[in-house]
Amino acid sequence: MPLQEKTVEGESPYVSKFLQFFEASYRKEIERLVESYPDKRSLDTDFRLLEQFDIELADALLDSPDVLLEAAQAAIEQIEVPALEIERFAPHVRFFNLPKQHEPLVRDIGAKHLGKLIAVEGVVRQITTVMPKLRVAVWRCRHCGNTYKKPQDSQQLKMPSFCECRHRDFDLVPEQSEFIDSQKIQIQ
Ligand SMILES: [Zn+2]
Repeated sequence: MPLQEKTVEGESPYVSKFLQFFEASYRKEIERLVESYPDKRSLDTDFRLLEQFDIELADALLDSPDVLLEAAQAAIEQIEVPALEIERFAPHVRFFNLPKQHEPLVRDIGAKHLGKLIAVEGVVRQITTVMPKLRVAVWRCRHCGNTYKKPQDSQQLKMPSFCECRHRDFDLVPEQSEFIDSQKIQIQ
């Protein structure tokens, strides 16, 4: 991304694009959602409308859903709605009507889909309860008390290899670590 596209506050330029999109195409739906929020807490968004609105934004969403979904989420939270009864209006943004190659069959999901936005149809077999998942771990050395921050992005728990004091015994400090809600859904 070219530097000049970044806004002064360092906010993703995609946020304002999504904001324009929601204002232009989803104003009515959003106002309706406000009335049933938080019983209903998702905004179902037609990918084809996004494509018509801004093809580059739509392509970026397919390619980098992590960044773009976060931007869409930030945008919807910035929309001004007459929400007198609710403390915070923060519905989930969900996209449907993805292009065919982004709607594989469950059995065809493979490496090329890693990190991309896809939609799958299936029967939900099992849902786990919501569990906290470690995102940034803070480790404290048992010998000298030094702490280390380690972002966690895989199943494998990441610890510093050695402390400055050359020991390698660490305890997790949960109060200083960051967790996100996580849930596993098994479909077939
Ligand atoms: Zn140490």
